[in-house]
Amino acid sequence: MKINDEVSKRKTFAIISHPDAGKTTLTEKLLLFGNLIRSAGTVKGKKSGKFATSDWMEIEKQRGISVTSSVMNFPYKDYQVNILDTPGHEDFSEDTYRTLTAVDSVVMIIDATKGIEAQTLKLFKVCRMRGIPIFTFINKLDREGREPLELLEEIEQVLNIQTYPMNWPVGMGKRFLGIFDRYNKQFVRYNGNEEETYIPYADLDNPAYQSLVTDPTYKETEDELLLLDEAGDNYSLEAILKGEQTPVFFGSALAPFGVQTFFDTFIEMAPNPTPRKTTEGITSPDNPEFSGFIFKIQANMNPAHRDRIAFLRVCSGKFERGMSVKLARTDKVIKLSQSQQFVASARDTVEEAYAGDIIGIYDPNIYRIGDTLIEGKEHYEYDELPQFPPELFKKVTAKNVMKGKQFKKGLEQLVQEGAIQLFKSHRTDSYIIGAVGELQYEVFEYRMKNEYNVEILLESIGERIPRWLKTDQVDESLFDDRNLLVKDREGNYLCLFKNDFALRWFEDKHPKIELIDLFEVN
Ligand code: GDP
Repeated sequence: MKINDEVSKRKTFAIISHPDAGKTTLTEKLLLFGNLIRSAGTVKGKKSGKFATSDWMEIEKQRGISVTSSVMNFPYKDYQVNILDTPGHEDFSEDTYRTLTAVDSVVMIIDATKGIEAQTLKLFKVCRMRGIPIFTFINKLDREGREPLELLEEIEQVLNIQTYPMNWPVGMGKRFLGIFDRYNKQFVRYNGNEEETYIPYADLDNPAYQSLVTDPTYKETEDELLLLDEAGDNYSLEAILKGEQTPVFFGSALAPFGVQTFFDTFIEMAPNPTPRKTTEGITSPDNPEFSGFIFKIQANMNPAHRDRIAFLRVCSGKFERGMSVKLARTDKVIKLSQSQQFVASARDTVEEAYAGDIIGIYDPNIYRIGDTLIEGKEHYEYDELPQFPPELFKKVTAKNVMKGKQFKKGLEQLVQEGAIQLFKSHRTDSYIIGAVGELQYEVFEYRMKNEYNVEILLESIGERIPRWLKTDQVDESLFDDRNLLVKDREGNYLCLFKNDFALRWFEDKHPKIELIDLFEVN
């Protein structure tokens, strides 16, 4: 019973967006709701020159950015909120993708002046692949942006998902009057620098609101709203929870405007931890026996101790500090005595945790990304984490050929940790590493030097479009530098196309060869 109560309080989600859409600003507002911070401007030190305590590694300090995603948790109303941060700027990496495997829903922020941008699209595709429910927040309504209908159309077409506007903006920028909150049947009035006010629909004919309701912008929007009611998609929580429909909220994270109603509605609608697939069927969050999986490993959080922390998403049962669990991959029994929960401002020891929670456990170099930990006699593993295709590729060699042994060891370990992906060029056997973001290379170079004492040379082969190939369709003579043939560690063939043009040219020339795009949105 207790487990069920705890699970039904958990709301675990990530916020995804393209850089500058307003993720930090919105996150700060949510942390303010949770009383986790006292004033805005304290989450990310990048702009202020202060460093958040989530920036552990030396390199993070140098750059003032957070290399790997951190976790923030706080109670809000009757809920226990867990927000997983997804690194988005130059620190975009596979961790960003993997984080999405550990959440139950996602908030997607779109800048109203820009619409859907490249990084949003990539992250959206991962959510789609995993069937994660997506809630959309269209931000920066206090500025002149694109027409709301046009934005919805773009979401529907580019992302191939139904939209349901939970609220509807009246004007924008200088003419911004507020939003019709369709879900709570109230008008939320924008008062510039003053706090927003709420007017129930039924009160709108009160003479006090005369100037508002006779405003031409307001009248125009009323007509639009009627059209939406008649011609728009119907609201369906079922479709939302399947990831087939996205509820759309308009607002401004900075003002802040519409953030409170967005968050209150979101937190109510967002799913609690749900049953998850394992190799032996489905495991429910209220299964009394503890289980979870590791989605991230972070080394050197404390340079003095060179420790590694594994981030574990609890999927069932109750975690208790000091408990013994089984590492499913090896059957080894491990006592979890050092555990931490992550808060934006500190690392606290965690005594107990339930499905939906993220805990950090000390890793004496035994865990791997994707590992399952379980309590009890059963034996199963959580669904493997997919290997997310990298986009940047570089040829890597050791500066000093005499260091070949350390070079291979470092490469092997960092690949195993999931910091980078390793490929071999088919022709020359040279090592090619792939990463999702540029910063991963800097971290890789830094760690090779500091942990394995090897200086490396990285030679860029640029941003590439990767497509997997079927082994029996590989004819070596068809490939060259523009469509570089490489093999991954399992021996699968991958073609790295130089650009869209090279890809299309190849498709036209060899229509029989199947090119597999792991990121395709169906
Ligand atoms: P992130 O890169 O997604 O984390 O974006 P930030 O939260 O750092 O915001 C990027 C810029 O947009 C900052 O200068 C913010 O002040 C600004 N910004 C964020 N939300 C709003 C908004 O609602 N309205 C306006 N006008 N600016 C905003």
